[in-house]
Amino acid sequence: MVQREEKIWMDGKFIPWGEANVHILTHSLHYGLAVFEGIRCYLCHDGRPAVFRLGRHVERLFDSAQIGDIKIPFSKREIQEACKETLRMNQLKEGYIRPIVFISDGVRGVYPGDNPIRVGIATWTWGAYLGEEALEKGIRVKISSYTRHHVNVMMTKGKICGNYVNSVLAKREVIKMGYDEALILDTEGYVSEGSGENVFMVKNGVLKTTPLTSILPGITRDSVIHIARDKGMNLVEERFTRDELYTADEAFFTGTAAEVTPIREIDDRKIGDGKRYPVTREIQTTFFDIVKGKNPAYIEWLDYL
Ligand code: PMP
Repeated sequence: MVQREEKIWMDGKFIPWGEANVHILTHSLHYGLAVFEGIRCYLCHDGRPAVFRLGRHVERLFDSAQIGDIKIPFSKREIQEACKETLRMNQLKEGYIRPIVFISDGVRGVYPGDNPIRVGIATWTWGAYLGEEALEKGIRVKISSYTRHHVNVMMTKGKICGNYVNSVLAKREVIKMGYDEALILDTEGYVSEGSGENVFMVKNGVLKTTPLTSILPGITRDSVIHIARDKGMNLVEERFTRDELYTADEAFFTGTAAEVTPIREIDDRKIGDGKRYPVTREIQTTFFDIVKGKNPAYIEWLDYL
């Protein structure tokens, strides 16, 4: 986690870790309207660190802000540079970058008025989000009793802080029951996404993932779609149900934190033989080669420090 000697980028300058605090009356803290990103930097095979799809992540930060009607007081280029600068400042060659844009103190009701918009960027070392073993053996997933957001209640395409109450509740619920991750159904009962991941299934050689209509447009999801299509795999973006997933040959989660994580069980039902995931494994291996700079065909996805 964040080390005390690390620096945080705050509103355009670096400040010590211990000074990166906000006032208790920060508007976002009370009402949940703030937006954030999660980005990874990998140490490549040649010893150089590279941020994975930085430009696309910063685009999504601005899309989230647009959805939340927040005006970010920096340009996309400035935020991109600040992300890289923070890694350099903290001498981090591999890790996680967390930009957050929030509404500061000022007006004290739901209406945020002209309260200042503030931006922070933190970096820290983060290994496999669901554990090294998860990447290898797969995880046990439970369908949450909570429903994912309705598109006209919280909306789903922005990484808006308040939206994550749903994810936290779902995740906590299934962890208490002894599972590794939650899968959440949409308001019509179809599979939507994990608490912080998109989901894919494989059946008879066809890869299927949920359409973008009511999920977060995951950048790992997009990368996997590119990889699968480039490999000539048959891939469809189509709604599916929990029972279709129960009978899948393979299933996996994708996310910046979760990377490509096989799912070995859903609701205590083994997926496939619960051991081998040939399609998942092929995509996972290619994904890790790409992020580590070993695949020249995808080098434009890397932003070397
Ligand atoms: N869905 C949700 C709800 C998420 O929080 C995340 C993580 N950002 C994802 C999907 C995966 O998105 P990405 O691959 O861009 O990290």
